[in-house]
Amino acid sequence: MTNFIKIIGYLTAIAKGVKSIADIANETSVQEKTISLNNIIIPLQSAIMEMQTEHQKLIDVKNHLEQELINYKNWDSEKSNYILAEVSFGVRVYVEKSNEDNIYKRLWLCPKCFEENKKGILQLQKTYPNPREYICHLCDSLFLIRPTT
Ligand SMILES: [Zn+2]
Repeated sequence: MTNFIKIIGYLTAIAKGVKSIADIANETSVQEKTISLNNIIIPLQSAIMEMQTEHQKLIDVKNHLEQELINYKNWDSEKSNYILAEVSFGVRVYVEKSNEDNIYKRLWLCPKCFEENKKGILQLQKTYPNPREYICHLCDSLFLIRPTT
């Protein structure tokens, strides 16, 4: 970014210098050459400014991708703390790996959100009547669980 600003500054200085020479020398040929040079310098400045804009967009994309990579690596580490388990007949969720024997006391994550690299914690919504109803507040998925213990 700084290089673009420097280049534009140099071109502006060159354009002013060329104009000064033309002002001093009143010869028509010098003035014509000045106009000709300015007709090159001005589009060059515009092209450099466009390059600067494109360069900034590429930097923004690079920064966004770097952040996504960091998020991906963090999620890769986080997801290793969970295992897919059947918590009720035919209902599988991601369950926190823990020394806690009672699976119903561990943290449960929504499998749909898990596959999208999101931590959708299942919340108990209704305890009566059986089955219990759990909800993922990220995607509004409902899970009907019949506790076995
Ligand atoms: Zn979800």
